[in-house]
Amino acid sequence: MSWFLAAFKDLNGRNSGIYNCRAVRGSTRTTSLHGEGRAVDFGLKYAEDIPAYDRFAEQLRLNSAELGIQCIIFNRKIFSGGYESKGWHRYTGVNPHTDHLHVEFSWSAARRSVDDTVALWEKELRGKTTGVVKPQGNTAKPAVEKFPTDYKDLAVDGVFGKQSVKAFQILMRAVGYYNRAVDGDFGYYTVIALQKWLRGLGYYPSSKYVIDGKAGRATYKALQQFLAKKKTLDTRKWLIDGKFGKETIKAFQRYLNTQNGK
Ligand SMILES: [Zn+2]
Repeated sequence: MSWFLAAFKDLNGRNSGIYNCRAVRGSTRTTSLHGEGRAVDFGLKYAEDIPAYDRFAEQLRLNSAELGIQCIIFNRKIFSGGYESKGWHRYTGVNPHTDHLHVEFSWSAARRSVDDTVALWEKELRGKTTGVVKPQGNTAKPAVEKFPTDYKDLAVDGVFGKQSVKAFQILMRAVGYYNRAVDGDFGYYTVIALQKWLRGLGYYPSSKYVIDGKAGRATYKALQQFLAKKKTLDTRKWLIDGKFGKETIKAFQRYLNTQNGK
């Protein structure tokens, strides 16, 4: 909670509770982990225009093993460390968790001192979450940071070949949306990364689109909108039409070249 309050003070993150000896809401029998003092409720209202909040939840999931997190409930989604490979599932409990993010710790993580926990969270999440958290109103643009990566400048040739895909995968690894091999294959997991990344940037809202690993019009449209914003796609000349054509690919390659650590 100390870590969260410091990291999310600009977004008015608040302490919505740690210890609370009660049953799970909607049940008289199951005791909430708050009753064991190893659950925390990070208080922040969910909103589409706070990509940092989604990114935070995602970073908790991706770093759950390191942080000793066994369960996360957030915005009608649940993640369980026991079924790590399944990722998020739909959460159908009584409380939709749209005004706080609930996190449960393993006993060993719960027993760490506050200082050790804060140090660990700083180490695991610094630069991924805390470094990019900015207050964001409706007009604020999504936080986009430059990430040190290392790949060769791509030829801006409008062909999304192996080198381009690899460059994208390297970037996705750097920002935490992809943890698989850099193999140049524009397959399911790479598309998942693309969709999550665009969502994190505020271009692929969960109210409209699903993260399904299938690149289609909605995904490419979101990508085009992002590239237009980055001014590598010239919308005076080219339409935002959801097609992954030569000009869109060139714009994407130009953008990837701006991210290669130079
Ligand atoms: Zn809770």
